[in-house]
Amino acid sequence: MHEWALAESVIKTVNEKKEFVGKKVIVYMGELQAIDMEVFKFAMEEISKQNKKKIDFKIVIEESKFKCNSCGKDFSMSEVKKKSEEEKENIHFIPEMVKAFVKCPKCKSIDFEIIKGRGVSLGYE
Ligand SMILES: [Zn+2]
Repeated sequence: MHEWALAESVIKTVNEKKEFVGKKVIVYMGELQAIDMEVFKFAMEEISKQNKKKIDFKIVIEESKFKCNSCGKDFSMSEVKKKSEEEKENIHFIPEMVKAFVKCPKCKSIDFEIIKGRGVSLGYE
């Protein structure tokens, strides 16, 4: 039910902030979020139906960024080559597992930080 709670808080934020009035809301979803996108979209639609004003929104997947603690290299998921599709799926559903699959592409260290890709943020257009 994480998706519903998230959709509720997104809509609550949109309702509370003046800058979203009359705008199309963009939900930036971190690539590593353990969110079922279909469920989230459905929840957003259902909750916004009960809203006084209809909320027009789109979801943008935000690519993850990592920073290696050994050599200082910044890298993204697409630079990490040796993953199978199955491993990618695992990363999407269990973000904690990212440490088991991702290595620094430069020095192969597994000591890195996740800088982007775990959070959810809002914008508009
Ligand atoms: Zn490195």
